[in-house]
Amino acid sequence: MKNLKIAIQKSGRLNEKSVQLLKNCGLNFENYKSSLITTVGNFPLEILFLRDDDIPGYVAQGIADLGIVGENVIDETQAQVEYVQRLGFGKCNLKLAIPKDSDIQDLKDLNGKAIATSYPVILQQFLDEYKIKAEIREISGSVEISPGLGLADAICDIVSTGGTLKSNGLKPFADVRSSEAILVGNKNLLGNPILTELLQRIQSVLLAKEVKYVVLNVEKINLPKITELLRGVKSPTVVPLAEEGWVAVHTVISEEDFWEKINRLKTAGAQGIVVMPVEKVIM
Ligand code: ATP
Ligand code: MG
Repeated sequence: MKNLKIAIQKSGRLNEKSVQLLKNCGLNFENYKSSLITTVGNFPLEILFLRDDDIPGYVAQGIADLGIVGENVIDETQAQVEYVQRLGFGKCNLKLAIPKDSDIQDLKDLNGKAIATSYPVILQQFLDEYKIKAEIREISGSVEISPGLGLADAICDIVSTGGTLKSNGLKPFADVRSSEAILVGNKNLLGNPILTELLQRIQSVLLAKEVKYVVLNVEKINLPKITELLRGVKSPTVVPLAEEGWVAVHTVISEEDFWEKINRLKTAGAQGIVVMPVEKVIM
């Protein structure tokens, strides 16, 4: 069967996590910064390293079968691609921001104003939705400095911590959209067996991130309290310890309520709790 091609960002904020995800799926490949394409040694896949802006278009046209790219870029390019899997990294927010001393207070105050952005398509959709007539000034980078230069009254840009905004005398004003990295695919790819196999591996890696493997010791008389707390987990493993009257319990706890669970297990008599990362979960 023909190899599939997956496009990932060559360098930038999504590169490292995209490479790591594929490696965690057990794929062997060299990650030469200089090469634009690399072949996976132990899986029918080639990896293309591209500018993120080009990824949705390449996938829509079928030059690449799959891609890893931010939702913001998918929406901005308006490429026709299928969402295959949300990946949980590269989270950020596209926001409107205004100078700290701006007289803009309400969205409607943006009428007649100039807004600088690298995301003209997404911004226009947002303005249309709120029936705002503002001028969009498209800038490809360093959008934050445009109000200070007198180029714009507001900006629309990606914000994660807000530090860049602050150091340019700006403050966040309104949320336009949130974004995370997505595995996208060409629409003709659905049902492809190589994709099915790759997706199973990706999902097992993503699931593993959500859980911890926990081993704890407990006196047998306290075991019912412990298993009660671990309800929902399919039958925790209980093994006898060399010391009479004690057992070890092996289980998996979700990352979400991890500390709460651990504290309740301790109160219920758990001792010597050992926590380990999980590499893969196969359902
Ligand atoms: P390229 O050279 O590939 O075009 P770029 O400069 O356009 O790269 P990056 O800044 O590397 O893009 O960001 C890539 C993606 O990472 C963004 O489109 C966005 O989805 C996501 N991202 C996550 N956090 C942030 C952040 N704090 N700032 C910018 N982008 C972020
Ligand atoms: Mg880009």
